[in-house]
Amino acid sequence: MDCVFCKIANGEIPTDLVYEDEWVAAFNDIEPMAPIHILFVPKKHIASSNAFAQGEDAAIVGHIFEAIAKVAKEQGFAQDGYRVVTNCGTNGGQSVPHLHFHVLGGKKIRFPGFDPDAK
Ligand code: 5GP
Ligand code: ZN
Repeated sequence: MDCVFCKIANGEIPTDLVYEDEWVAAFNDIEPMAPIHILFVPKKHIASSNAFAQGEDAAIVGHIFEAIAKVAKEQGFAQDGYRVVTNCGTNGGQSVPHLHFHVLGGKKIRFPGFDPDAK
């Protein structure tokens, strides 16, 4: 499948991974919007939060939040806090059709933090 996040997650596009396990890969956003801007993606191709199916997908997304908490602790930004964002579809400002969670930190993130028109 011609999906950039599948290719990053399976190593086809060499990328420095911030975190990886059986289910999830995390890497720095190529256009960071904050001092910390990490993308967490399921290794399985799920197009968006709207394509999310009950069962296995729910377990994977639960696991992604576990991974986010682990990385935040390990990298030392858990204490100051961070924002987790997932954009869905055109009006949500989603530009890559593979479910991903933006983790933003390192400064106070203003609400909503994302302007779909800015891209
Ligand atoms: P979306 O707009 O879909 O919520 O977010 C997609 C994010 O993926 C954007 O913040 C964009 O900068 C990032 N991105 C797009 N292509 C690549 C890539 O090839 N590598 C990395 N590291 N980030 C990417
Ligand atoms: Zn994909």
